[in-house]
Amino acid sequence: MTLVLTVDDIRHTELFADLDDRQLAWLGDTGRVVELADRQVLFEEGERATHFYVVLTGELIITKTIDGRSEIYGRRSGAGPAAGSILGVPADRSAAAHQFTGELPLLIGGDYVAGAAANGPTRLLALDRDAFFELLARCPQVWRVLLPALAWRIRTFESQAGRRSMLEGLGTLAAGLAHELNNPSAVLLGAANQLRAAVRELAGWSTRWGELAVPDEARELATTVTALLAGDGIQKPADALAAAEAVDDVDDWLSTRCGDDPANGELAAILADQGVGLPVLESLADSVRGSVLPAAVGCLSQSMHVEALVTDIEEAAARIAALVRSTKAYSNLDRAAKQQVDLVKGIEATLAMLAPKLSNVRIRRDYADLPPVPGYPSELNQVWTNLIDNAVDAMNGRGELRLAVHQEAGCAVVEVGDNGSGVPPDVLPKLFLPFFTTKDIGRGTGLGLHLTRDVITQRHHGSIDVTSKPGDTTFAVRLPIQGVLDHG
Ligand code: ADP
Repeated sequence: MTLVLTVDDIRHTELFADLDDRQLAWLGDTGRVVELADRQVLFEEGERATHFYVVLTGELIITKTIDGRSEIYGRRSGAGPAAGSILGVPADRSAAAHQFTGELPLLIGGDYVAGAAANGPTRLLALDRDAFFELLARCPQVWRVLLPALAWRIRTFESQAGRRSMLEGLGTLAAGLAHELNNPSAVLLGAANQLRAAVRELAGWSTRWGELAVPDEARELATTVTALLAGDGIQKPADALAAAEAVDDVDDWLSTRCGDDPANGELAAILADQGVGLPVLESLADSVRGSVLPAAVGCLSQSMHVEALVTDIEEAAARIAALVRSTKAYSNLDRAAKQQVDLVKGIEATLAMLAPKLSNVRIRRDYADLPPVPGYPSELNQVWTNLIDNAVDAMNGRGELRLAVHQEAGCAVVEVGDNGSGVPPDVLPKLFLPFFTTKDIGRGTGLGLHLTRDVITQRHHGSIDVTSKPGDTTFAVRLPIQGVLDHG
């Protein structure tokens, strides 16, 4: 229900405390009272902003959808907060910031960034857009409360969203890391399991071989195995078809030369897989008696198998160690103060962390020699993450990412380029504004570039520029090489 507003309704409202009778009378004529029942919705998030509201009595609950869930973001009440002053707002005026809503989207001509609904019966003063701007012109006293309250609100919003963006970053990082670790750790577990059985098999064959072989034969097999382990005589199949043919050939050879045995299939698979083909087997058969050939082949294949499993374990462990190294380099866990930073190392650590996102991206590197730059490594890595993440998004996950570093007029220049959709000219000036995003709700915070610019300009006294046309977007970061090392 919409009702007429009386001067009495507004004179005790904090925001209008300094207005004179003439101004109050104008407001009484212009504003309207909106009465809401408990839980009645005033406006929805994303709806075009049409009104500025001041809570006269009762309370509004402000909600925002975060990751698909509606969360309470704030409250606006006629009574004001119970205690405490808001930073930047005079103590006796701090209540006012909690009494109004809708000013921000009206000022920038946008949508309501949150939803609002009544908590209990609530009375509001409503001013439409024109009336709101006339209020600002006719009643300049309002600015004194409105501006600091606005600044405080933006700061709060920004730090909340900044924390969220950081958490999102951490989530992406953890997911990427888990994905990358999954493969080598599965290999490690599988190989360790197989190794136990392979060592037992090898011990069995070795015992038999020890019982059967004469010294010349023992020497011959030892020489063959040593040569194969060193890679001599190994012929790995070129593709899956060749591999299958090699297994068949070796299997046939085993049946002919060592007799039919159910274990032949497994031996053939191991030998062929390790690149041990018929020439090596023939040469072995020429050097040992036919009666001991099966034991010789058994020893040979299990030695190769154990060696291959150890190599798998070594490679998987090295991959895990490299991931741990790049995670440490990325987050710079053990050092936080400003220091001399190797930019290329940071960029490469970032690429390693983002590897799962980059599987369909060609990376072109053009790194010139660069001296270290004074800075905060983990914050700079956050910058590279934001720029690379955006570039990959702009290319829909596939395309060419260009990374270049060079030196220019006392600065280190890092360029991150992509051949994605590009930024339309009318959008370009807005890129670094807080909360500007073209991504879907829940995907973009619109803070990445804003925080990136802060890190570059405020923390590192550098600059960041962007040039873009369809298929060619480049962000160029400039960082002074001769900076001051401090601990702040
Ligand atoms: P977010 O990534 O959360 O949207 P950012 O501040 O990082 O926030 O980016 C703001 C917007 O800038 C993006 O939504 C996108 O529209 C645009 N943008 C950033 N980088 C690029 C790029 N390389 N190519 C095209 N558009 C980009």
